[in-house]
Amino acid sequence: MGKLQEKIYNNLPYPFKFILLNIKAFQNSKQRYTKEFDKYLQEYIGLWNADIKVIKEYQKEKLIGLLSEAYQYSEWYSSIMKPLGITIKAIEENPYEVLQKMPILKKTERKTSADTIVNTSRKTDAVGYTSGTSGAPTINYLDSESINRSFALWRRFHKVIGLDTQKVRQVRFSGRLMVRPDAKKPPFWVYNYFERQLLMSTYHLKESNLGHYVKKLNDFKPLLLDGYPSAIYILSRFINENNITLDFTPKAIAVTAETLYDYQRLEMEKAFKCHVFNQYASSEGSPFITECTEGNLHLNLDSGVFEFITTDGKKAKPGDVAQLMVTSFTNLKTPLIRYNIEDTILLSEKEIVCPCGCATPIIEKLTGREDDILWTEEKGYVGRMDTAYKGLEGIVKSQIIQESPQEIIVNLIADQKFDESMQESLLHNLKTRLGENISYQINTVEDIPLGPNGKFDAVKRNFKIKL
Ligand SMILES: [Zn+2]
Repeated sequence: MGKLQEKIYNNLPYPFKFILLNIKAFQNSKQRYTKEFDKYLQEYIGLWNADIKVIKEYQKEKLIGLLSEAYQYSEWYSSIMKPLGITIKAIEENPYEVLQKMPILKKTERKTSADTIVNTSRKTDAVGYTSGTSGAPTINYLDSESINRSFALWRRFHKVIGLDTQKVRQVRFSGRLMVRPDAKKPPFWVYNYFERQLLMSTYHLKESNLGHYVKKLNDFKPLLLDGYPSAIYILSRFINENNITLDFTPKAIAVTAETLYDYQRLEMEKAFKCHVFNQYASSEGSPFITECTEGNLHLNLDSGVFEFITTDGKKAKPGDVAQLMVTSFTNLKTPLIRYNIEDTILLSEKEIVCPCGCATPIIEKLTGREDDILWTEEKGYVGRMDTAYKGLEGIVKSQIIQESPQEIIVNLIADQKFDESMQESLLHNLKTRLGENISYQINTVEDIPLGPNGKFDAVKRNFKIKL
């Protein structure tokens, strides 16, 4: 949403918000759940419990398809592959060998070269913007097959964790702004009729509002809660601290997009009396890593190829914390081949086959997304600040530091596209999320030093929250 559209939307009376959101939801729903979606869903369900040989054969076939299309229809990839002597024949004979010859695609390259990376043989059916942990927004072109496949993989994950393959009554906590940022009274949510999904705002999770959230959840009785763990955690803590017994028990909580910390999981499971499942995917179209009923994180080999490298670029060993390098089958329009997605994982010490019935490899932990949760008097807890950069241009890298509840410092490395209007938009976005009555300082800097373990802290809170 543009700034003007956002302003208009925010000022609309609530019933109009509901209507507008549902018009968009209807369009999305028509695009997502097609005949092809049903076909892919059955394909993926069949693959979950298939023999590992069958899964690997499927992966190989998909990899051949992806590399062949990139070779023929992506200016970026063909200009790399041809000088390396790669041919269609070589791809068909041994796609994994070809993959190993390919250079690593960096985030900065993906960001600045989307228009040449793009696969011209596929129609653009949707355009999205994503902002990674470095805070820099990236354009993403998508075709309908990739959209259908991503949603089919997502729905399979639901089936695996015990939900119906039909849409279930669910609540989502995501970074989307769908009610006025300064709203003091409920509703802090909008119902998406076409997804059977109650979208709850993560920007209004102030202590004084949490009782309203609990009441609404009790009325709605979701079977699934999903979204940002930081948001569900805040609510869970409130439920537990006030000894609230809910009127319903969901079948599952599924979290994504942020690092899930153990303390969050414990608090959520205590409050909602159901299991918390972790899931990794990205809006750029990375392959999936999903938790099974045994609590293990499976690499969904039918959604892509995973490689693990150490910080100095070597192949990682069992037990290492490794950087994730992905080749994806869920974004065929803007292909990701050996893409360093800048997330880290902890590899298992031993290779074991999970007793859940799925033969794909498992990893120990998702360790990467280190976004911290900020806190201000006006807004309470605020997680996932990277959405504040959406739609902005010229930001190479950026970091938000909160020294005290009243003070936000943004350090950013910017190029010439970052002008005064961008700075204003950024300030506007920050105020919307964190509140009007605190001080903001935006510094343009040459470099942003890395934190402990060479990790980049996109968001850092340097004080303890006292309530
Ligand atoms: Zn398993």
